[in-house]
Amino acid sequence: MQVFGPNELLADVLKKDLCIGCGACTEICPYFKSYKGRTSMLFSCTRQEGRCHAHCPKAEVDLDELSSFMFGKAYEGSPLGSYQSVVISKAGPEMIPGNFQSGGTVSALMTHALMERQIDAAVLTDWKGLIPVPELITEPGDVTRFASSKYVTAPTVSMFNKSKQLGYKRVGIVGTPCQLTAIAKIRTNPLDREDFEDTAGLTVGLFCTWTLDARDLLKYLSARIDVEKIKKLDIPPPPAEVLTVTTVDDEIELPLSEIRPMIPRACSVCPDMTAEWADVSVGGLEGSPGWNTLIIRTQKGAELISKAEASGFLVTDKMPKESFEHLSMAAGNKKARAFRQAMEDGCLNNKDDGHAALRVSPTILKEMNIESGEDNVGDT
Ligand SMILES: Cc1cc2nc3c(=O)[nH]c(=O)nc-3n(C[C@H](O)[C@H](O)[C@H](O)COP(=O)(O)OP(=O)(O)OC[C@H]3O[C@@H](n4cnc5c(N)ncnc54)[C@H](O)[C@@H]3O)c2cc1C
Repeated sequence: MQVFGPNELLADVLKKDLCIGCGACTEICPYFKSYKGRTSMLFSCTRQEGRCHAHCPKAEVDLDELSSFMFGKAYEGSPLGSYQSVVISKAGPEMIPGNFQSGGTVSALMTHALMERQIDAAVLTDWKGLIPVPELITEPGDVTRFASSKYVTAPTVSMFNKSKQLGYKRVGIVGTPCQLTAIAKIRTNPLDREDFEDTAGLTVGLFCTWTLDARDLLKYLSARIDVEKIKKLDIPPPPAEVLTVTTVDDEIELPLSEIRPMIPRACSVCPDMTAEWADVSVGGLEGSPGWNTLIIRTQKGAELISKAEASGFLVTDKMPKESFEHLSMAAGNKKARAFRQAMEDGCLNNKDDGHAALRVSPTILKEMNIESGEDNVGDT
């Protein structure tokens, strides 16, 4: 993995509007800060190599390196990434009920992992008046407080960085694909530090097609409703084309045509819909709002699922073939769109002095019928 310093991060990511506000560069030094869902560089710094750049999910992400680290093999470019199995799931009878986004699989798994002491703390994401707030918790009973999807850019990784400073050794984290790309980069020890410890005890990924800029969404919704009364947001599958907002008194639908302009540019070069660098990944199940799709990727993930099932925290069932095919198609389309966009934007497989957002084998691009990125030298 190529690592540069804060000035390259500023030039290649922040100034090119590719920052996704995940917080990976914050809580490691005083120079970068997250504020209301966005990240800023406060002071200049002349380091040649820094963790800020090394951890960024939009700077020099080498998909082969991440895949080798997580799964011991090169990146294959398959729509759903590497996995052992795909099932459907929901919280089991032992789980505390909550305001779950779908089936409550994520909350059930984190509760169970904390109860069983597989992890000693968990990084989860709440929001206050639509502004995302990551928190570190240690009590299983606190997990349901974080249930539901906050469809905004969130500095969740900053709290993972903080958990290291606080001395936690086995931390669970729930994150979107970009946040978990940052976590995977952190886990590869990109700066070869001798004092490095991998403290990611469990990574639970959320499917994500795109997210929204927190400040833009706040401004848009504040003009229409009392945001303090919002209980839940949802984006039902096509052809609905709406964002559903459930408040304490009402449910309103807002057209996606008004919402889409709030999608950060960074999402357009994200090739990952199903959080490929996670132990397990969880999304909705089209047509069955009380269920999740669950992708089990690693051995650690597989063990967690079988223990959670055995203890009544999780229920699983067979994934319907049609749903699997539809998910694969949607994830494959996102991947192809992102590689094409990155190529068009000059941030894919850059050579010589060019700094890339993404690096992927030209063979994969060829297999996906995307023109080879080999000769693509971006403007840096
Ligand atoms: C921005 C975003 C986009 C999504 N897009 C899709 C999609 O295209 N297709 C799909 O199938 N599913 C998508 N999801 C996932 C889906 O909405 C549910 O989160 C998932 O199905 C898990 O449901 P659950 O009932 O198990 O979650 P719950 O048990 O309700 O738990 C939700 C968990 O998500 C975490 N969380 C919420 N918001 C964020 C955030 N912004 N950043 C990090 N962590 C967060 C909370 O900490 C909580 O632990 C998206 C989620 C988000 C946050």
